[in-house]
Amino acid sequence: MKAVVKLAPGEGNIEVKDVPIPQIKPDEVLVAVKGTGLCGTDSLLYNWTYKGRAPVPTPIVLGHEGAGEIVEIGSQVQNVKVGDRVALDALIGCGTCYFCRRGLTYLCKDWDHLGISFDGTFAEYCAIPAIAVRTLPDGVAWDDVAFLEIMAVVAHTMERIKVFSGDKVVIIGPGPLGQFHLQAVKAAGAGPIIMVGTAGDDARLQVARNIGADHTLDESKMDAVEAIMDLTGGVGADIVIEAGGTPGAVATAFEVARGGAQLAFLGFAKHAQFVPLNAVRSTFNVQFVLAGLGRHVEQAIRWVEAGDMLGSRLITHRISLDEADYGFQEMIERRAVKVYFEMEEK
Ligand SMILES: [Zn+2]
Ligand SMILES: [Zn+2]
Repeated sequence: MKAVVKLAPGEGNIEVKDVPIPQIKPDEVLVAVKGTGLCGTDSLLYNWTYKGRAPVPTPIVLGHEGAGEIVEIGSQVQNVKVGDRVALDALIGCGTCYFCRRGLTYLCKDWDHLGISFDGTFAEYCAIPAIAVRTLPDGVAWDDVAFLEIMAVVAHTMERIKVFSGDKVVIIGPGPLGQFHLQAVKAAGAGPIIMVGTAGDDARLQVARNIGADHTLDESKMDAVEAIMDLTGGVGADIVIEAGGTPGAVATAFEVARGGAQLAFLGFAKHAQFVPLNAVRSTFNVQFVLAGLGRHVEQAIRWVEAGDMLGSRLITHRISLDEADYGFQEMIERRAVKVYFEMEEK
């Protein structure tokens, strides 16, 4: 079968190769991948700047956002059957540690992750433990459910903050994470919604306008803090979602939040500065959000069914596995929001 393989550590080292179809273990299923997308993390793996809890093994088939149809089940598998349409849970906890016992899989120190610790979805077929698949409702399109992994992160944010109709929301970072949050707060009735990007984000800011951002700002061309203050009557935003991942994005988030605002941080900035004195005086309500859990995936599936959050709205590039390298470049250069691999019909 065809697969996009990271062959060795270091920048690049990615090749589209013919590899054997995976052999499943008794507790696994074999999924014919029908749709899969590039995530920001894949760009980090391409550049080899990804910092995980454990070294990434190579060679490895990349890809952890995907959906497909079960074509084979292991001898012990009872929860699903051949022919089921499923989405894949990317993160699999050890099941026995302190955090797993409390359902907080993303804090497990011994996790497995599709496309990061074992072969992923940028391939015609993918083997995965049966506990990590979720049956999809009939009628949902592959390009709408291929990104449930990232949508689940958004569901996690929405669980931690309260969004009311008419809330003024600032989202910093028009990448996939920021854009899915935009769809979620829009569906919850927030507005106006202001998306903040920087130099080189033109294409992404256009997508944000297409899916309902009331204002988009390029902070390289203006004083974004001042502009947001103007747009919020001099008060600041009720809700700020930071998905930019830079020290500047973190600083801006604190500067544009009104007193008592809710802030959610999802970016991976390695350092940042804020002024505790101001934050305390402003009584900010701050959340840090990492991954989604099972209940968040279930919520994300409901969003798709309701038409409130659709992956297809964010696809800027539809390519084949053979064009993977082009897809990675478009993602790294921030010309893409979502790069989607159209799988050939078998
Ligand atoms: Zn991801
Ligand atoms: Zn664990």
